[in-house]
Amino acid sequence: MSVAYDPNNIFAKILRGEIPCEKLYEDEDTLAFMDVMPQAEGHLLVIPKLGARNILDVPPEVLSSLILRVQKLARAAKAGMGAEGVTIIQFNEPAAGQTVYHIHFHVIPRWEGIALRPHSGKMADSATLKAHADKIRAALAADA
Ligand code: AMP
Repeated sequence: MSVAYDPNNIFAKILRGEIPCEKLYEDEDTLAFMDVMPQAEGHLLVIPKLGARNILDVPPEVLSSLILRVQKLARAAKAGMGAEGVTIIQFNEPAAGQTVYHIHFHVIPRWEGIALRPHSGKMADSATLKAHADKIRAALAADA
């Protein structure tokens, strides 16, 4: 049996505007924003507006539209950051490394020979996050 969704998780608070984020993209169903503890430059997160804990309970139609947004953000992150590749990660439940219980996909730009930094490691400064977000937003605008 899946665990109930907790509407007080940090991404639910971001969706309600109770805490800030470096927003990249928003539509009726989706929000994308910079990860505050990036594992590589340009690391971002894509979440649905609907509250679901993870892949185990998310409704299929929400997951379907979410993965299309993940593709859009992956393309923009790669182009905007001038990356050579993109890693997509998605964790489910604590044993698998999930720390925030609102389903999200990690989109992480990659370069040959540059290893990922630790998951939920060090906070990035807001100026750096904004500079990277500006590049990704420009790539999204060019794609529109
Ligand atoms: P996980 O649930 O393990 O897939 O990872 C949660 C991710 O959310 C981590 O990569 C954190 O760095 C990131 N994170 C936690 N709090 C925030 C926040 N307030 N804004 C943006 N990213 C966050």
